[in-house]
Amino acid sequence: MADPANLSEDLSEADAANELMRLAREIKKHNRLYHAEDAPEITDQEYDALVRRNEALEAAFPHLIRADSPSKGVGHEVAASPLSKVAHAVRMMSLDNAFNAEEVGEWVARVRRFLDLGADAPIAFTAEDKIDGLSCSLRYENGELVRAATRGDGQVGEDVTPNVAHIADIPAKLAGAPPEAFEIRGEVYMERAAFADLNTRLMDEARAAAEAKGEEFDPHKARQFANPRNAAAGSLRQKDASVTAKRPLRFWAHGWGEVKGELPGETQCEVIRAIEAFGLPVSQLFTRVEGLDALLAHYKSIAGQRPDLPYEIDGVVYKVDRIDWQERLGFVAKAPRWALAHKFPAERAETTLEAIDIQVGRTGKLTPVGRLAPVLVGGVTVTNVTLHNRDEIARLGLRVGDRVLIQRAGDVIPQVVENLTREVEREPYRFPSTCPECGSEAVAEEDEVDVRCTGGLICPAQRLERLKHFVSRGALDIEGLGEKTLSEFLERGWLKNGPVDIFRLEDDHFDDLWTTKGWSDVSIHNLMDAINAKRAPDAARLLFGLGIRHVGAVTARDLLKG
Ligand SMILES: [Zn+2]
Repeated sequence: MADPANLSEDLSEADAANELMRLAREIKKHNRLYHAEDAPEITDQEYDALVRRNEALEAAFPHLIRADSPSKGVGHEVAASPLSKVAHAVRMMSLDNAFNAEEVGEWVARVRRFLDLGADAPIAFTAEDKIDGLSCSLRYENGELVRAATRGDGQVGEDVTPNVAHIADIPAKLAGAPPEAFEIRGEVYMERAAFADLNTRLMDEARAAAEAKGEEFDPHKARQFANPRNAAAGSLRQKDASVTAKRPLRFWAHGWGEVKGELPGETQCEVIRAIEAFGLPVSQLFTRVEGLDALLAHYKSIAGQRPDLPYEIDGVVYKVDRIDWQERLGFVAKAPRWALAHKFPAERAETTLEAIDIQVGRTGKLTPVGRLAPVLVGGVTVTNVTLHNRDEIARLGLRVGDRVLIQRAGDVIPQVVENLTREVEREPYRFPSTCPECGSEAVAEEDEVDVRCTGGLICPAQRLERLKHFVSRGALDIEGLGEKTLSEFLERGWLKNGPVDIFRLEDDHFDDLWTTKGWSDVSIHNLMDAINAKRAPDAARLLFGLGIRHVGAVTARDLLKG
């Protein structure tokens, strides 16, 4: 992918102004999704690319910097939050990012120049893994925790004092002799395993809630956190702290804000070790190194350990160790000159698109799925990618045989980022105009991107999906008719007229069942009892069970009210 910071030479001022306007709007939207709603739509790398593009344009056209430029604010607006607001005594900064060793080298050189150090003068740094969590400031007075606040926009955060009381890593009282007032800063995070358990639990709860209401359970609509970072943020920023109590959150410290009294050390390393001694965890991979080469070696070592860590990290943070030097270096705009976040590249890999399969859903929607030559992406073997719809295939110009760059972010289904062989001449992929299951015409309605099979119940794929829907818990709720049984009965031609044939099974195929492998006296009678119990179904369940597009469980009930 092109470096977003590389500007083409013929970029006009008008183009730049338009792009800056678009970027301001887009970055603002993603900030809101990420911070206020914990529901990001793009990966961190994509977000970083937008920010870098914005920075590059502003550097090239400083007179075009907008009043609402995203570079002027830090983080989200806390105004929308239901939690009370806390002003930070010392602003919570964000870090500048580097994306490769060269940029780290430039940063070290800048630090040297600023401090007037010779090229050979020793310079020490701390380095630690950058956890993907939620920044939090803990204020201790006389050793007692008096306030916890999220970062918010850096100046004003949200009060989460009752919430952090449920985080075991955060002591209510510090050990030893801390400064009179001490704001310890770090990250609230959730470990990978706890994140997976939480999503499983939320799914189970959503299923149980749907069943209790007699509604169709749609797993896609159940609340699921996209990644551990969102899970941590969503769990901490709860108005009701008892919700936080049920979420296994963790914390580690990596810095400090306001200090009244004596700072317990003269270097970053000494103070971090002191914080650890006061009773707060710090990164196990925190270390002190001298010089650029040692920094990069530690980065490599952390990157190597990344897959085995119980939590997700997205880079390594470097800080100038000497605090008097940190003070001399100071800040530029919103970030300290003495710290840098060296980000990991996205988990991406190249492979070959071997086939495009079309799956047909209950409402006849044709969904393309890309079959890949198996490839390892961030420790997971990937063989399928979602291609979404016809437009997405066209946008990427995908054809079978293309080399593709795929990306995996968290537990999200992998996606194709780029077609690497677009330019190679090859027969274009033709999205089917007929259904691969029944041969009926497949069309997209006006203003719709989805292509659907028009075969209705002629279509075996739709027939099976509709039957499954008809017997599902939200609809007629007939036990004993699983997918395997339904597709077997379909194949035998026992259900060719759709759901109505279910009620004819006893009359028409009772004897056939006796000679069918896997069926016994007990299982046949159980099935017939289950079907007979639903011969006079609740009207709304029946209407919903017929699976008419746009008629969900609630609509079905509403329709019958009139
Ligand atoms: Zn079809």
